[in-house]
Amino acid sequence: MILVTGGAGFIGANFILQWLAHRDEAVVNLDALTYAGNPENLRSVEKSDNYRFVHGDITDADLLQQVFARYRPRAVIHFAAESHVDRSIHGPEAFVHTNVTGTQRLLDAARRHWQHLDGHDRETFRFVHVSTDEVYGTLGPDDPPFRETTPYAPNSPYAASKAGSDHLVRAYFHTYGLPVLTTNCSNNYGPFQFPEKLIPLVIANALAGKRLPIYGDGRQVRDWLYVEDHCRAIERVLKRGRVGETYNIGGWNEMANIDIVRKICAVLDRWAPLADTPLKHPETGVAIGHYADLIAFVADRPGHDRRYAIDARKIETELGWTPEETFDTGIGKTVKWYLDNRGWVARVQDGSYREWIAQHYNPS
Ligand code: NAD
Repeated sequence: MILVTGGAGFIGANFILQWLAHRDEAVVNLDALTYAGNPENLRSVEKSDNYRFVHGDITDADLLQQVFARYRPRAVIHFAAESHVDRSIHGPEAFVHTNVTGTQRLLDAARRHWQHLDGHDRETFRFVHVSTDEVYGTLGPDDPPFRETTPYAPNSPYAASKAGSDHLVRAYFHTYGLPVLTTNCSNNYGPFQFPEKLIPLVIANALAGKRLPIYGDGRQVRDWLYVEDHCRAIERVLKRGRVGETYNIGGWNEMANIDIVRKICAVLDRWAPLADTPLKHPETGVAIGHYADLIAFVADRPGHDRRYAIDARKIETELGWTPEETFDTGIGKTVKWYLDNRGWVARVQDGSYREWIAQHYNPS
């Protein structure tokens, strides 16, 4: 049995689906079902004997103790976090509470559990902490990509809170010997991503004929990785990673935001032709010829990092992981998923996914 935190969110759900598809080992998913948690993501496995769900918060120390005592996991994969940079700018406190305090309480519960294990179980226990490349700050155009040795320089409250959690994970290894591993990954994209993040937002807005907002000049560069490649990397780190180490994970795929948006628009022009469903520009009312006509530049995000890039050589050479998708194949799969799952997007956007959660998980 492994314990996954935040498994109802974007990456956690993809991880659980992938895990259960090819492994016969149970998963217990501990998730608070914040706005970003959507159990519909796991509907296909919810009746599986290998899947358990605990509705709860990683800051709840008593609950954590009960979860460890009841399920006795051999490993923890820690995804649960507040994850959206814009939300962290408007309300940093929740980020410190979940990402820093929550991670510390989870580490503490894991440490107590691990200290009571014997022999082989104690030796093989692992705590994998899933983190971000944003902890390293921003790069100039000619700087080399982030390595595991790059000093931390977080610039947003989100990045600072994740940096704090990374340091706590490190400290629990050096102070208590807890067998931890940390991964720092670049921007993910793929199925089940909440449509507040760039790629699903652009797909959903384009299909609805809404503006495609681009911060500043759109030349901010990010490395992009298809979510299933990230999940395979995490599994590899769990299986073969060296305890106490950190591993950078990335797709060697640096792209400017504006180029990502143009690419998505080009895919949509082919797969959801405007000839079939004509759209009018929301401001001018004139029929648009291409989805890219909806692009609108908006005021930049404060403190917006200019460039992130990941040097993934350590995980590639040490653990033999490489991404399977190129950006073209990954974005193709992603756009197709959003076209095939418009109901999922609609339920997230109109808030009805919360009603289902309220009925099932918060009975009054
Ligand atoms: P997400 O926002 O989609 O999902 C977060 C999940 O955590 C949700 O299900 C939410 O309900 C749950 N959660 C939040 N607070 C909680 C709490 N206090 N207790 C229990 N559960 C809680 O996030 P994501 O994009 O899937 O990211 C998952 C992890 O990967 C995060 O730690 C994030 O920092 C990291 N990461 C994300 C990316 C990316 O591009 N999305 C890249 C690198 C690293």
